[in-house]
Parts: sequence; structure tokens; C-alpha cells
Amino acid sequence: MIATDHAVAAYLGLAIGDALGSTVEFMTPREIVAKYQVHDQLIGGGWLHLKPGQVTDDTTMALALGESILKQGKVDALAAAQAFDGWMRAKPVDIGNTVRRNLLQFRKTGNPAAPYSDHDAGNGAAMRLLPVALATLGQPEESVRAASRAQAHVTHHCALSDAACECLVMMVQDALRGASKNELLHRHAHPLAARHPEFKFRAVRQQSNPSGYVADTMQAVFQSFFDTDDFRGCLIDVVNRGGDADTTGAIAGMLAGALYGLEAIPKVWLGALDDNILRACEAQTHALLEASNTFLS
Ligand SMILES: [Mg+2]
Repeated sequence: MIATDHAVAAYLGLAIGDALGSTVEFMTPREIVAKYQVHDQLIGGGWLHLKPGQVTDDTTMALALGESILKQGKVDALAAAQAFDGWMRAKPVDIGNTVRRNLLQFRKTGNPAAPYSDHDAGNGAAMRLLPVALATLGQPEESVRAASRAQAHVTHHCALSDAACECLVMMVQDALRGASKNELLHRHAHPLAARHPEFKFRAVRQQSNPSGYVADTMQAVFQSFFDTDDFRGCLIDVVNRGGDADTTGAIAGMLAGALYGLEAIPKVWLGALDDNILRACEAQTHALLEASNTFLS
């Protein structure tokens, strides 16, 4: 049985983490302390000059991906590529370099899989994968992993990105099935670090000012997620590290939402989130769960 409210919380957690983190994106922890002491409100601003509660590419690409899945009735690489291309044409507030380059390549070739490159190890595929986790709930692990790679490869065709994405998809699904934080640690996070030492997040310096490199991102997210005990604490811990804070916030918010559920999300953050985004995330969660044919509780 899947707890629907935890799935909704994962999507809203993604959006809230994105909106919260965007204010301090590219700042160092020291700069954040000087300006805010602790940054803990959805006030917009940042280098993108956002409105309070406004989200960035992390959330809007996830919504575009989810729409393509609902339209196709499955995770489909070509449909995802077309959805991302349409998203780019609509002039999003923010777009990553790897995303832009490989979507321009898709326009030329029509091939929805980017060429393989170990250099495309950014966090751009990981930040938007939640719809895949929701749509493939209940499917065999190999199909879930294949779906994860199909969406990721549109812009990031890279072994490290794949490993992170598949780990996150499995973690979200496991959390929605009721796994504890400790189970997520031992079933997913530690095995990922064992297979790919780049992702080791224990016995390494606290990851502050994390870059867009997916291993930096995952280290920060894992340290914050596993070393805090509630939704609010996790998000405040991760975004105050600065760096690629909208994306660390988005990914940590997704995991924390899936684990702790809707009740754990501060009302003041829900109230401050862009209303249209809030409604879109809620509606898409329900539609994707329904499409996944999962038994809902
Ligand atoms: Mg962003």
C-alpha cells in the first residue's frame, strides 16, 4: 500500500526545496550567515530575482516530464525529449548548460538519447525524476531502472548520473512503501557509495557549497537527509550549505517529503509556495499514482 499523502509531500517537498534554495543559490555558507543568519523562508530573490514562492527549472522540468508520462501512458524517451524541448521554448527562468546543449542536439537529430559522456555528470537529470518514481510504482525493478535511464538520457547520458537517478527513484519508492530512514540508508545510500566511491558521504568533510556535480549534490543531500529528523530541519540544513541550493533543496525535499509525509511540511512554507505550482504538483501526483495502478491507501 502506498500512502498518497507521502507522494504528494514528495512533490511539494521538491517544489518547496527548489523555492527555498533558489534564494541562496551560488552563495557560500558564510555569505548566507552574513545575510540571513539562517535562511528559512520562501522569500524569492537570489541571482534569478524570483518572486517569493517561485520555483525554478527543477520543479518545472519535473512537471513537464510528468505531463509527458500522463499523455503517453508510460515513461517514453521521445515524449520526454519533446516535453523538455517545449519547456525550453517557453523560456524558463533558468536552464542548465548540459540540458540546453543536449536539447539543442535533440532538435537537430531527433534522437531522444544524448551521446554518452562521462563529463555530463551534473545533477540535471536527478532533480526532475520524481514523476518516474511515481509512474513506475509497483513495476519490476528492471523496468523502473530502465524508465529512470530513459528520462535521464535525454540530457544526461552518464554512468554517475544514472547511478544517482536510479538510487533516488528506488529510495522514493521505498519510502512511499513505508521504509524507515535507516532502511533507506542501508538499502540504497550505502550500496550506491560502495559501487561508486564518488558518492561516499560519510567520513568525508561536510559537503558545503555543493556544486552542480551530481556527486557533490548527492553528498550534501545524503548528509542533510540522514543527519536530521524532520522535513524542516533537513531542508534548512541542506540549503544553508549554499552552492547549487535550489537543486540540493529540491532533491532533499523530495526525499524528506516521501519519508515524513504532508503533516511534516511547515504550513508557512505550503502557504508561501506559488499557488499554481502547488496545485499542479498535487494534481499530477494523483494522476501519476492512478496511472501506476498502485493500490492506494
Ligand atoms: Mg534550478
